[in-house]
Amino acid sequence: MKQVYLDNAATTSVRPEVADEMIKVLREEFGNPSSTYAIGRRSRALIEAARKNIAKQFNASSSEIIFTSCGTEANNWIIRSSVRDLGVKRIITSKMEHHAVLYTVKQMQKEYGIQVDYINILPDSSFDYKHLEELLQQDIPTLVSLMHVNNEVGTEMDLKKVSDLCQAHNALFHCDTVQSIGKTEIDLSVLPIDFIVASAHKFHGPKGIGFAFIRKKNILKPMIFGGEQEKGMRAGTEAPHQVVGMAKALELSYSNLDEERKHITAIKEYCKSKFTDIFSDVHFNGNGIGFYNILNILLPISSEKAAMLLFQLDIQGIAVSRGSACQSGSQKASHVLSEFLCDTDLAKPNIRVSFSHETTTEDIDRLIEVLQTV
Ligand code: PLP
Repeated sequence: MKQVYLDNAATTSVRPEVADEMIKVLREEFGNPSSTYAIGRRSRALIEAARKNIAKQFNASSSEIIFTSCGTEANNWIIRSSVRDLGVKRIITSKMEHHAVLYTVKQMQKEYGIQVDYINILPDSSFDYKHLEELLQQDIPTLVSLMHVNNEVGTEMDLKKVSDLCQAHNALFHCDTVQSIGKTEIDLSVLPIDFIVASAHKFHGPKGIGFAFIRKKNILKPMIFGGEQEKGMRAGTEAPHQVVGMAKALELSYSNLDEERKHITAIKEYCKSKFTDIFSDVHFNGNGIGFYNILNILLPISSEKAAMLLFQLDIQGIAVSRGSACQSGSQKASHVLSEFLCDTDLAKPNIRVSFSHETTTEDIDRLIEVLQTV
């Protein structure tokens, strides 16, 4: 049975060229990057070349890139260190953030008693920028933590508008860019963003590696203590194969971006038109402002049918998800959809279909074919 993978917001396949580079490093470069003899120096050189390559994609400086194990770790570090080390007394965020941000902010509120303000969400799932501007009027050391692309609905934030607002009001700006890195251009020499984060497995790289961009003027302190790795910011022996794999995946994502974005945009349109053909009253959440690789669909089917839907798709070899990956299988309403859907719509079953350059119209046809039998 052909497997149909339509859950690229949860994770992506590793590009063959990435796997090849990683295997080469694993086979040939086992040196500890901290060792001063030649084998170690070669590993160090691989890591630093990868850092430079990554920084180049965003017009950043390589000293501003710190490797982490994933996006969650990078988000945790930035938020915690902003409160602990940069004097932040208030965080402005949204209730639509990934739990990696949402729960970290709550923890900071509990541990440090900081003020937390949540910006309003408009009915189309976008952030209420006017409300953000109002909140920013209050003169208190603030970190704004808002995501670039929502992982469940695909809603895309106006990065320029938010970063300009933060700059104008002297607020630090942390943007969870896990869903957008490698999928859209981000020029950090133009956008006044203080912190962004990435996770390689979202852009066809390996799992277990990500990075944080920390703008030079912000001096964070470590979250993990030990050796001098990553300028002492993240102790622990580096994983050269992971770092090299991530840099290669990012390089390929950006060199293929125009072509792949075009392909994925067309697939998304095809998918929407197929859904509209078979369900006359289908509703696409965040329609019109959604990022090009994510489609969140409210299905006009009974809850009895919906209860078995993902299971039935799964036994037919189709991978899609309901809400965010970590919540699949849970019957609780999504914390993201709850922010902007009315109770009637919230009760309707929803699925998230997310595409990659590998997705074909045949994959969509197969999804539709199986859905029609459910
Ligand atoms: N932030 C967003 C928006 C995400 O979609 C995810 C993963 O789904 C994360 C953070 C966490 O990233 P990681 O899986 O690398 O910890």
